[in-house]
Amino acid sequence: KWWKMPEGKVIPVRVAVRCRPLIQKEKDEGCQQCLHFIPNEPQVVLGKDKAFTYDYVFNMNDSQKDVYSSCCKSLVDNIFKGYNATILAYGQTGSGKTHSMSGYYEAAIGEEIEDMGVIPRVLRDLFFGIDDRGDCDFTVKVSYLEIYNEDLVDLLCPPSRRETLNIRENIEGGIKIPGLREVQVSSYSETMRCLELGSQGRTTGATAMNNTSSRSHAIFTIHIEQKKKEDMDDACEAKFHLVDLAGSERAKRTRAEGERFKEGVNINMGLLALGNVISALGEDSQRGRHIPYRDAKLTRLLQDSLGGNSHTLMIACISPADSNMEETLNTLRYADRAR
Ligand code: ADP
Ligand code: MG
Repeated sequence: KWWKMPEGKVIPVRVAVRCRPLIQKEKDEGCQQCLHFIPNEPQVVLGKDKAFTYDYVFNMNDSQKDVYSSCCKSLVDNIFKGYNATILAYGQTGSGKTHSMSGYYEAAIGEEIEDMGVIPRVLRDLFFGIDDRGDCDFTVKVSYLEIYNEDLVDLLCPPSRRETLNIRENIEGGIKIPGLREVQVSSYSETMRCLELGSQGRTTGATAMNNTSSRSHAIFTIHIEQKKKEDMDDACEAKFHLVDLAGSERAKRTRAEGERFKEGVNINMGLLALGNVISALGEDSQRGRHIPYRDAKLTRLLQDSLGGNSHTLMIACISPADSNMEETLNTLRYADRAR
């Protein structure tokens, strides 16, 4: 008797907006802050009067820990109850997506625990949670996938051995990717090594291709299988996706042409599809409504982990600089639609 999740109940998608501080370059260029925040309200105001409200709003003074403990930690607790979870970082390049998701290994030294982003914090709490549950056996596996130009790239596989990957759906609606490496892990540090290795694979590709990371989606997935020791049939499975999305900036702004333009089109397609799926999930549930998962690889891949019994959090990252105002407004609108 595998734990059965209640059917028909749809867990709403939650949306957080996170504003990073002005970076040195913006200060040097004399940029001004074009956002302000209402104390104790999850609200952000762009310019004089464009106010937006979300489930959570984090300003430039909020730490990595603040973000994690207020809206991410509960998703780890729910994983042990068999609920899938997805955290997505959205925003233009340079807005703080990678900092928010990873932080730790992006920082050169990685000694500063304060810098740890969502992924390492999720992993720490996951392994603490496993240690606390001596009555259960756990199998934890991780996979790390990149979607670039609508192609799937296995980041845990050496480049020379990478094969073409496809998305399959089983009868129960579960999503599987045959051939994708799933590495079994048993500790925090082992998992972090996997993550670092995969991220390096991402960056190496980038030197040749002029920073691919801003044009691809990176999806780190933790698969957890939990079985009661005294009754091995009493079990549950859950997936936790942690997604660093491609930069949301418009293709026209970078005057993209040819190959790059194609990249831009594909990225926008993924982000567009994601926005459409999330907003369709938010509509009052009517029988037979259509959720357009099939419009892009990104949404296909996340199909069984967005909506339904999955907890989904989108962290929309923004820059406070007036020079980024147009993209910031786009991000705030996208995030508003997702609510
Ligand atoms: P993205 O992944 O969206 O392109 P990054 O995460 O690389 O953006 O962030 C761009 C720069 O801003 C990096 O130098 C990063 O360290 C810095 N940064 C981002 N968010 C914060 C934050 N909340 N606090 C301090 N610095 C930040
Ligand atoms: Mg990044």
